Amino acid sequence: MEGNPAQGLSLAEHRERLAAARSSLAVLGSVLWQTPSGGGPEGLSGLMREVDALGMACDAGRVAVLREAMNRGEDSGGSAAMTTAQWVRCHAPSTIAGGAAAIVSVATAFGKRVNAPVREAVESGRLPVRSAAVVVSEADKLRPLLADGAEPHVLEGLIGMAEQHGPSGCRLLRDGLIAKYGRQDVLQDQQNMGKSFIRLSQPTDTGASTFEYRLTLDVEGKAALEAALGPLSAPKPVDGERDLRSSDRRRGDALISLVRRAVAAGDEVGKTNKTTLLLTMSYEDLRDRLGAATTLGGLDAGTHLAPETVRRLCCDGSVIPIVLGSDGEVMDWGVEKRFFTDAQTKRLWLRDGGCTYPGCGAPPQWTDAHHLVHWADLGPSDLDNGALLCERHHTIVHTRRLAGRVVKGPFGERVEWDLTRGSYDDLLARRAASNTATEPA
Ligand SMILES: [Zn+2]
Ligand SMILES: [Zn+2]
Repeated sequence: MEGNPAQGLSLAEHRERLAAARSSLAVLGSVLWQTPSGGGPEGLSGLMREVDALGMACDAGRVAVLREAMNRGEDSGGSAAMTTAQWVRCHAPSTIAGGAAAIVSVATAFGKRVNAPVREAVESGRLPVRSAAVVVSEADKLRPLLADGAEPHVLEGLIGMAEQHGPSGCRLLRDGLIAKYGRQDVLQDQQNMGKSFIRLSQPTDTGASTFEYRLTLDVEGKAALEAALGPLSAPKPVDGERDLRSSDRRRGDALISLVRRAVAAGDEVGKTNKTTLLLTMSYEDLRDRLGAATTLGGLDAGTHLAPETVRRLCCDGSVIPIVLGSDGEVMDWGVEKRFFTDAQTKRLWLRDGGCTYPGCGAPPQWTDAHHLVHWADLGPSDLDNGALLCERHHTIVHTRRLAGRVVKGPFGERVEWDLTRGSYDDLLARRAASNTATEPA
């Protein structure tokens, strides 16, 4: 940096300049009352901005000094017993109250070339060090999941989010970034893995005639639950009186009424009990199993669902997908024709008698009507293309891409499954070869 007045100063001279800045700050408290009032950048609000920027610059300064100490090997204070964080706490005593770890992690990260944009954002005073530490750790977590060349975009997205919304905004971005920039199937793999963490604990007696449960859900389960709770948990005024129940109370009440409705539905074909989850995804992404769908509306708007999950949800009409064409136009495929009608579903109940997966005995009222040629591959809602599957086996059929077909046997029609992984893709290939693709319903 040619012409930089700070260049060539000794460490002692740097220190003197900083001490001068500090003494001008130290007198503020005792002299401000004498100054005339004024607004805008010339007034107290402008002064507050300047002081805050100085605070951010101090944070960045601590990182810069530590970085140099690390480069020169001075960060252990000459004794191997001292960690870098201890060195920081020792010489920057304000960090005893917290923050030393962030300074160390950011200073360490700045040693890597990939983090140059984060460093620039910190040094120019746009990004506080605490936020930078979160950006760096999120980027580290995402890096192994990203497609080639995606890292700069991801870093840029994280920095932008951290500048505007702080560290929590940064963490919210994770699924969206994986959906957009992740290697193919990363989001799907993560969401499939999420299923294994689903838990509902036994009730714990709190001793006050109430019971506590712990519930852990995957992304899809959360989206389904929130879509169902949303309309049920809205405030309900009685005789013009405001609903005074808290939001948590209303959600609890809604969950109980959801369970009661499901049980009451009994042996009915439960189409009307299914939740409606609006989501957008381009048809190309849905067909090619790329990208992710974004949910719309309700509490849960903006959740990203992996493509195979969406293809399964589309199967039995538990979601209403708004599928976008290549120019972003809404492709209207006629909602009614896309799903099996109640009459068709009843005939599937009679024909299949429950889940058709080998060895499963789930009764029909706990099943979905799966499209053997997936709805997303333009499979028709005909009985020959339908098969009952319980939730668990429906998931397996989609994630393992299994093909089934309706065969005629001595005891009538039944569904036969090919349990070889990817058998569905072979089926699609054969269909394409014989060019018998069905037109969109
Ligand atoms: Zn299905
Ligand atoms: Zn089953």
